[in-house]
Amino acid sequence: MEYKVYANIFVVVLFSLQFKEEVAALCGSPTSRTLVIIADGIHGQSCNLLGVSDEFVVESCKSFGAACSLERQDLPQVPSPELQVNKLKLDLSGFGNEYRFPDLSRAAFYLKIFGTFRHRYISLVCHKCDTHLVRQLRITPDTMIMRNIFQESFNSYRTKREPKISDSEAFNIQCNQRLGEVKLSYRRENVLYIQEENLVVTVEGDAVRSLNFNLGFEVNMGLRGLECMGTFINDIVTADSQSALVRAMSDKTRFSHQVNREVIHSRLYNTLGSPK
Ligand SMILES: Cc1cc2nc3c(=O)[nH]c(=O)nc-3n(C[C@H](O)[C@H](O)[C@H](O)COP(=O)(O)OP(=O)(O)OC[C@H]3O[C@@H](n4cnc5c(N)ncnc54)[C@H](O)[C@@H]3O)c2cc1C
Repeated sequence: MEYKVYANIFVVVLFSLQFKEEVAALCGSPTSRTLVIIADGIHGQSCNLLGVSDEFVVESCKSFGAACSLERQDLPQVPSPELQVNKLKLDLSGFGNEYRFPDLSRAAFYLKIFGTFRHRYISLVCHKCDTHLVRQLRITPDTMIMRNIFQESFNSYRTKREPKISDSEAFNIQCNQRLGEVKLSYRRENVLYIQEENLVVTVEGDAVRSLNFNLGFEVNMGLRGLECMGTFINDIVTADSQSALVRAMSDKTRFSHQVNREVIHSRLYNTLGSPK
């Protein structure tokens, strides 16, 4: 436990604390304001304990995506530098006429390789479009084709330190069978005030917004959400009236909606599409 005093604000930091019903019951006091920041991940239950609505909105990010994972037991469990490829060209004509398409240059796929050397993750995203290839990859559930895309892409763009994925290893790739629509799921309510307890609750990270595919840039999305946190904390602890408190919470909600809009309308492309 750590105690700190910042400009007359008494801060208690509790480490390794399991947030459960008994702890939730201790939060809040009519005489001093409490701020709880929930960041317990995609499967967290803390929101329920504090009465934050579990209503989520799901919106399309106007992209298609697929992801895969591969465990390589002989390689070390060491984080690897992210590899990002813009405008990946896919030539799947070897899989048959239906994958032979005249508009190769129009297919704008983005590829990301991330994780550790032992646990390899690869994601593939493209703008929502109706080119022949994209349509084929959307409608035909074929793990073999998807595995082949991930294997070939990895072997082309891997770092020199990593061995290629062999054909026998490729059988162990766990992947989506086809391209699916990428969707953002976000909480309708992400900040809450419980007046009797003078308690403000806010939700961050994967607990407030997440994608239906593990595309490997969710940390950036979480950090973007935190950008307003300094101002929010300051506004909450210094609010000397109900209207100041409501204003601080409205600003926070507005910022959160802005982050959602960015992810839905542009951030996905900007993040995946920006050259590194
Ligand atoms: C396999 C995999 C690979 C990934 N790779 C990448 C990548 O390369 N790049 C990237 O940007 N993103 C990646 N992500 C996504 C990224 O890990 C998450 O988006 C990010 O960790 C979310 O952070 P968070 O703090 O919101 O939640 P989490 O990291 O899930 O942290 C939540 C924490 O809360 C704790 N907790 C839960 N309930 C309670 C409770 N009641 N009391 C106390 N503590 C509690 C959990 O134990 C956990 O430690 C990956 C995700 C996965 C699954």
